[in-house]
Amino acid sequence: MGTNVKFACLIVRNNINMDIINTLIIGSGPAGYTAAIYAARANLNPVMYTGLEMGGQLMQTTDVENYPGYPKGIMGPEMMEDFRQQAERFGTDIRFGYVSKVDFSGEIKKAWLDSGDEIHARSIIIATGATAKWLGLESEKRLNGNGVSACAVCDGFFYKEQEVALVGGGDTAAEEALYLSKLCTTVHMLVRKDYLRASKIMQDRVEKTPNIKIYWNTEAEEVIGEKVVEAVRVKNNQTNEVNTIPITGFFVAIGHKPNTDMFKGMLDMDEQGYLITANDSTKTNIEGVYAAGDVQDKIYRQAVTAAGSGCMAALEVERWLAEQE
Ligand code: NDP
Repeated sequence: MGTNVKFACLIVRNNINMDIINTLIIGSGPAGYTAAIYAARANLNPVMYTGLEMGGQLMQTTDVENYPGYPKGIMGPEMMEDFRQQAERFGTDIRFGYVSKVDFSGEIKKAWLDSGDEIHARSIIIATGATAKWLGLESEKRLNGNGVSACAVCDGFFYKEQEVALVGGGDTAAEEALYLSKLCTTVHMLVRKDYLRASKIMQDRVEKTPNIKIYWNTEAEEVIGEKVVEAVRVKNNQTNEVNTIPITGFFVAIGHKPNTDMFKGMLDMDEQGYLITANDSTKTNIEGVYAAGDVQDKIYRQAVTAAGSGCMAALEVERWLAEQE
């Protein structure tokens, strides 16, 4: 049974009654919902603001086969609906809305919604996730989920014994190419420069893998296919030579952007904008503010690891609030 922490109290400001909630959760992916389940079961009466994409990145995924507990797999949106119901079952106040501004300078943290509404909270769990970067091709958008993917670990299995293309030359692309090489007959790796940005060890591994074919100075011009991916048209940016490669899967691995713009100047982040949390913890540099999921994880980025860190964040918040009593 969870610790009983005093519930919302009221402050009166400018003649407006304003609740101070115990825990505000920003974001509704696996990290946010898991934090909500734990915080609600600990009687913290959490309030969650979902963001514009309720359910987060998994709403754009088809089958999820690697989340434990779903032996037959599940569609991403359905899984997030299960998460939502479970969070609600224990009393999470789930509100549709986008937090666009925060102020963590005082003991009571403040957040503002797009609507202009203001929220006051003793503790915050940031689970705003990250957004995969896309090339920006019309065909890439149209075929997303039907052969186009930004996650090899999530979707690679569907292309077993098939030919796929992968765009990118960083560590993510290298990792995903190696992952796909174990499943697919050939991985056509499209790299826009004449070198890989990935770490040396990953470069070596990629270059030594016989079924990864690297195309240097090459950019994807169009993903071809009406309903599903059938090929990709590529262009060599040095020679202007155009080629069509028959494939069934098109993977984009050109990086992610953590959704942290509104925390700039307030919370410690790395050069790519990922929030920095203490070792073995979800604590940020500000007391009472915690970060869970992809917003602070550029390495694993899995639903199950995000859920795990959401659980950690809620447990840490519960302890921290109890200490403040
Ligand atoms: P990076 O930013 O490191 O690499 C992005 C890659 O995509 C680059 O090769 C870049 O090319 C290419 N790219 C970007 N935009 C386009 C475009 N429009 N068209 C074609 N290619 C494009 O992102 P990663 O996600 O790979 O890595 C992010 C960080 O996370 C890095 O610091 C990485 O080391 C780290 N990481 C660590 C891992 C680990 O430790 N296990 C695993 C994965 C990532 P160009 O070089 O031309 O800019």
